[in-house]
Amino acid sequence: MQDHLPVPDEPTVCRDTGWPCHDTCDVRHFELVRQCDVRGLLHCHTSYDGGVHGLREISETAIALGLEYLGITDRIRPGLHGEGLSPAAVARQREEIEAINAGNPDFRLLHGAEIETAADGSLPVDETTLSKFDYVVATLATDHGQDPETLTRRAVRALMNPYVSILGHPFGDYMTMPGEMPLDLETVLQAAAQARIAIEIDAIPVHREPDWRNCVRAQELGVQLVIASDAHRAARLGDYRHGAELTRHAGLCCRQILNTQGIDELLGFFRRSD
Ligand SMILES: [Zn+2]
Repeated sequence: MQDHLPVPDEPTVCRDTGWPCHDTCDVRHFELVRQCDVRGLLHCHTSYDGGVHGLREISETAIALGLEYLGITDRIRPGLHGEGLSPAAVARQREEIEAINAGNPDFRLLHGAEIETAADGSLPVDETTLSKFDYVVATLATDHGQDPETLTRRAVRALMNPYVSILGHPFGDYMTMPGEMPLDLETVLQAAAQARIAIEIDAIPVHREPDWRNCVRAQELGVQLVIASDAHRAARLGDYRHGAELTRHAGLCCRQILNTQGIDELLGFFRRSD
């Protein structure tokens, strides 16, 4: 392990965000995560998918917050019917993202997708469509009344999908949920470590008294975690600051949080999990 940088006793004001922090942000060092360590966000929705703001508006907010990148993860329509983007809308969104990136050399908009897994853990979207995204967040928003063993198998199958880079909700909740788990989270975390898949933590936990043991276990196993605000309006992007404080309280280190990495390291992680 590398040596720690000297950390001042009292927090100073972060040069980037104006928030109190220790002025030694450096992901190469094993230090508790701080607000100013978060360099981008990887889960938000736009007006393409029921969100309040369009791509340009939400990008401007991300830039104003000092973020270096923002991943758009609107939901993809499985088949001909249902909610989410159609293939034509995905193509339009890609064009708009490329145009915004062309006008902002110091900021990167990423074209991600949020996809709800089928009951068996497969993704109900064809491979041609999946391959067009920079990354995919797989979710299990509906448990289909599955028992813990079936749900665990489903989650493991989802994260073993070569197109998936991040396991999203409800694992954000499960990661901080007190009490009995609806699935075998230890098995899921071990599979995520093996497959090099990141797991989301909610920036605003839904549990009054979050239990951080699963986050600490993920860190022990080397599973990358993502502070995710799942913003459906631009102003909610700022929730990541709260998420950083929470994960710091949990004892999570900067290097274990995927979105403390710069854009090149991040894209390298996505390619590795391809
Ligand atoms: Zn979402």
